[in-house]
Amino acid sequence: MNTEVIPHNPFQSMIDRFNAAADILNLSYSKRDKLQHLEKQIVVNFTVTMDDGTEQNFDGYRVIHSTALGPSKGGIRYDMGVNLEEVKALAAWMTWKTAVVGIPFGGAKGGVICDPRSLSKSELEKITRAYTRTLADTFGPDKDVPAPDMGTGPDEMGWLMDEFSKLHGHGKAIPAVVTGKHLNAGGSIGRTEATGKGVSIITLLALKNRHIDHNNATVAVQGFGNVGLHSALYLYEKGLRITAVSDVYTALYNEDGLNIPELILYYNLNNKKIAGYTNAIVISHDALLLLPVDVLIPAAKEDVITCDNAHAVKARIIIEGANGPVASDADEILNQHNVLVVPDILANAGGVTVSYFEWLQNTLHQTWEIEEVNFRLTEILEESFEKVFATASLYNITPRLAAYVIGIKKVTKTMEGKCAVK
Ligand code: GLU
Repeated sequence: MNTEVIPHNPFQSMIDRFNAAADILNLSYSKRDKLQHLEKQIVVNFTVTMDDGTEQNFDGYRVIHSTALGPSKGGIRYDMGVNLEEVKALAAWMTWKTAVVGIPFGGAKGGVICDPRSLSKSELEKITRAYTRTLADTFGPDKDVPAPDMGTGPDEMGWLMDEFSKLHGHGKAIPAVVTGKHLNAGGSIGRTEATGKGVSIITLLALKNRHIDHNNATVAVQGFGNVGLHSALYLYEKGLRITAVSDVYTALYNEDGLNIPELILYYNLNNKKIAGYTNAIVISHDALLLLPVDVLIPAAKEDVITCDNAHAVKARIIIEGANGPVASDADEILNQHNVLVVPDILANAGGVTVSYFEWLQNTLHQTWEIEEVNFRLTEILEESFEKVFATASLYNITPRLAAYVIGIKKVTKTMEGKCAVK
């Protein structure tokens, strides 16, 4: 037996949970082996002329974990920490996520090693277009459909669509090749806020499950990007007390609750930074994760709660806004401490769900109103939450394991069906 443990490798965390769920399902060796592997792993390198005239090479990835349920789906991350193990984990999580919420996509993820904060708009555009060109035969509305992730947004998705359309569109735009676009480029209303909105819906359901009144319930949010910011805002609007938030540089605390709309205004005027906001005290990033709150929402990156700090977590509920914020070696500790963890593959699935709505609208040449988007999103998340918690009770397992059981069951049943057709 190989007992070597790679510390906090997100792909290993995925495999650990996958194996635990596969044991419950008595999954055959061949299916287990198949789903522990990635269908495709593409490593690319391309050259971009920077604003100062120098040429710079960039490494990028696109990993497809599974296309069993449909075209692969998943975001593109721009970050200096991007690496193949991370992209592999993120791709597999997309497979389980789409399966848990029942949308007809497989799982993929991409990334480019770069620091988007230090790049100009035109450099970001060149990087995105070059990345798209190298992957032009991988992407496609019925093959592999990218979306935003950390460090990317509607601008990047628009450039990707444009570059892809130039190569494949015969003079026409192909909006369904990518989701998370600006509205005027074929984006869906509600997509930008969707992940945060979903996190807030799931948070309210989790509080109810634990019989905690959401009025005045306390919340700490790690991360003030697209996910953290919108999660904080929706929960603030629902009457919860957001006592702490952080961005990459600063963590802020106010026992009485932060005024989130005011903080967002400040953040937008302060170059997208929360530093210097005065109606709060500054705390450390580590301390934020250990605050005695009702709900902790890690909405930044992987492996922020591990066996090293899980013992000290005082939150009653953790809602995984980010992908993989809790490492697998923290699972048992949190469970023993009776911390309810709502896993990423359910908690942050609002984003890909509205991506699916966007893809549908593009494919069917429709435009939905916000009411329709929100109604369908809420319905899907409520049903998925119900299913995950019912499965958890049935097998007497954690909601995380239950979500994996649901995801793996769905994917393997579909694989069996496809084999039967052949
Ligand atoms: N990057 C997001 C996620 O991790 C969204 C993916 C998508 O919309 O395809 O779920």
